[in-house]
Amino acid sequence: MKLEIDKTPSKIVCVGRNYADHAAELGNEVPKAPLLFLKAPSSLIRDGEPIVIPPQSERVEHEAELAIVMKERAKDIADDEDVFKYILGFTCLNDVTARDIQRADVQFTRGKSFDTFCPIGPHIETELDVSDIEVQCRVNGEVRQTGRTSQMVFPVEFLVRYISRQMTLMPGDVIATGTPAGVSQLHPGDVCEVVIEGIGTLSNPVISKPIQP
Ligand code: ZN
Repeated sequence: MKLEIDKTPSKIVCVGRNYADHAAELGNEVPKAPLLFLKAPSSLIRDGEPIVIPPQSERVEHEAELAIVMKERAKDIADDEDVFKYILGFTCLNDVTARDIQRADVQFTRGKSFDTFCPIGPHIETELDVSDIEVQCRVNGEVRQTGRTSQMVFPVEFLVRYISRQMTLMPGDVIATGTPAGVSQLHPGDVCEVVIEGIGTLSNPVISKPIQP
């Protein structure tokens, strides 16, 4: 079943370095436990809305990711519990990142949370086996990132269980599961698409914001 995305999440939990080849391309080791960070819910936009490059950054990049949308409040999920009963479904997410700011700040908050930096959609797919599906990013029709969810260091069930033990997940909360290799810079005039097998295509044009005098 396809559902509309009609809720603003209380939080967007992201997982860094969850594909070994992407960790390597940025010169990082694969973490021993999931590396978590948050994106501001105010960064969310829908399919078709523009990603706005802010004047503060000289290097904004795409990150195509499978996103989990929560159905039930989840706290301290036990090892033997069925994680999927807490999950509403899955969608495409673009974890847009100001890479220069992420590096300069060390903290990810600012570089990941500019307005428009979290395209999500086009809808939530409720019946999907996400254990081995293709995740792709195309810019102006050209494939930049390709990976399969089976390459994740920490798979979906593990991530939801792990995160529920660090913070309570609420209905509508979004978990971005990490990006495969191939991240690259976005420029005004580009069209960036996240394409996930069994879900569909999330497409957003890229524009720039003029510097305020
Ligand atoms: Zn990411």
